[in-house]
Amino acid sequence: MERTLSIIKPDATERNITGLVNAMIEAAGLRIVGQKRIRLTQEQAEEFYKEHKEKVFFPSMVQQMISGPVVVQVLEGENAIKHYREIMGATNPAVAEEGTIRKTYALSIDKNTVHGSDSPEAAAREIEFFFNHTEIVG
Ligand code: ADP
Ligand code: MG
Repeated sequence: MERTLSIIKPDATERNITGLVNAMIEAAGLRIVGQKRIRLTQEQAEEFYKEHKEKVFFPSMVQQMISGPVVVQVLEGENAIKHYREIMGATNPAVAEEGTIRKTYALSIDKNTVHGSDSPEAAAREIEFFFNHTEIVG
């Protein structure tokens, strides 16, 4: 069993499709073992995405992440990190595979509906970034 950090981004909470995204997560066999709806501060968003701070899209990406509420989640399952990346689909929804969350719901590369950790190290850091042990119930 493995855990990964998911974020349902502001473009999705704005469209009221949290439940639709969660249905795809659960249909894929991943279990939502922690979940809360929060509003990121600019400082939190910049710290969370610090690996991208030199990228040209960094300022607009941070603005997008703080533009509305997000739902942060801990997902549990076999190979959860890789499995979730697969069902999320490619970063750019234009090239994401049919049936993926991003192909189904994302609007554009900067409004791409979900985040998922990309490695075990990232998952550990990102889960700890948002959750206490008592908030994750498997
Ligand atoms: P992923 O979310 O698939 O792991 P990255 O970690 O590379 O993708 O990028 C983080 C987020 O930054 C993406 O989900 C997307 O919202 C945004 N982003 C990435 N590349 C671009 C780009 N070229 N233009 C605008 N936003 C981008
Ligand atoms: Mg990433």
